[in-house]
Amino acid sequence: MTAHVLVVNAGSSSLKYSLVDADTGVALATGLVERIGEESGGSHTHTGPDGTKHREDRQCRSHEEALRTAVDAFGRIGPSLTETPITAVGHRVVHGGARFADPVVVDDQVLAAVADLVPLAPLHNPANLEGLTVARRLFPDLPHVAVFDTAFHQTIPPRAYTYAVPLAWRDEHRIRRYGFHGTSHQFVSGEAARMLGRDPAEVNVIVLHLGNGASATAVRAGESVDTSMGLTPLEGLVMGTRSGDIDPALHAHLARQFGWTLEQIDTALNRDSGLKGIAGQNDFREVVRLRAEGDPAAELAFDVYAYRIRKYVGAYYAVLGSVDAIVFTAGVGEHNPDLREAALAGLDRLGIRLDLERNRGEVDGPTLVSPAGADVAVLVIPTNEEWEIARQTLTALGR
Ligand code: AMP
Repeated sequence: MTAHVLVVNAGSSSLKYSLVDADTGVALATGLVERIGEESGGSHTHTGPDGTKHREDRQCRSHEEALRTAVDAFGRIGPSLTETPITAVGHRVVHGGARFADPVVVDDQVLAAVADLVPLAPLHNPANLEGLTVARRLFPDLPHVAVFDTAFHQTIPPRAYTYAVPLAWRDEHRIRRYGFHGTSHQFVSGEAARMLGRDPAEVNVIVLHLGNGASATAVRAGESVDTSMGLTPLEGLVMGTRSGDIDPALHAHLARQFGWTLEQIDTALNRDSGLKGIAGQNDFREVVRLRAEGDPAAELAFDVYAYRIRKYVGAYYAVLGSVDAIVFTAGVGEHNPDLREAALAGLDRLGIRLDLERNRGEVDGPTLVSPAGADVAVLVIPTNEEWEIARQTLTALGR
């Protein structure tokens, strides 16, 4: 029988959901409740089976009210949860620390463990916890599974996850590299092996997840062996509003020279940096538009963004020793041929080449954009984190 998994992604003031056919990955419905708990401007969108987007103004006071709103939309717009019953609920949880290397069926102990990890993800884990709690209350008879963004990276060896910092920081405060976007990296690296017609255990892949957040992962034989995000999602590639790698002495410099607080600096690095910091725009499409008009700041932003990717490709090539495929995924990776071209330019000697025509062609589904027979296959693979969460939910339930 087909299993339908309700995938829930609870943010601090939003709740995203999707009813996924776990066999095919098709979403029978998707929805988003925004500005939960805020004074005004709340909204709910629900897209049902016919693909029509229904949007209404809706101020939800709590995540519980938001989830009830979603359930109500299934009744009004469809699909009916009586005709398409939910098999299980899969929850995206950002931080699983070193404790969770796999998805896990949620019980009170798991909730306590997610709460214990709040210091490592103070913005995300409390919201995820709230989502887990209200969904268990609303669907007490369904199994709930937590799927962690960090889990796929738990195979990273100590030499790659250890920061060279004092022992007490590492031991007592759990300071290390964890990595994020795990479900996406896992999904697309698996798809890449499938596209190459090979067993995932035989292929080495560099995955470039380039969305609002962005990260690169080196995958050896199906396992993550290094990734660009670290203790938090700030490290690594340049992102929409995050700086990515910076000199760790920057905080001290700004605090000493200008008296800025850590809070101010952290906020600026997370929200006002990246593409936004350089070009004034966090949306890559806007950067592309301004660049085409000859805007020098947009040109620089594009350049810095692409250059950082190239550095990580080189680093992960060295980590893996041999690379079978490089995969571009998420908003920017899937949709911007210029960026793919700029990021991989000049790497021919490493066997990395693009077929410029294929790269510029229509990308609708998984696509090979390198020349046939190239040493390294360059692939564009749309990510599908919801499907991966649905599949992992069933795996955790032993199905
Ligand atoms: P995601 O987080 O995967 O939804 O990706 C969001 C990012 O992808 C934003 O920076 C968008 O500007 C970018 N993006 C989405 N569509 C396109 C497109 N057609 N061309 C360039 N960038 C795009």
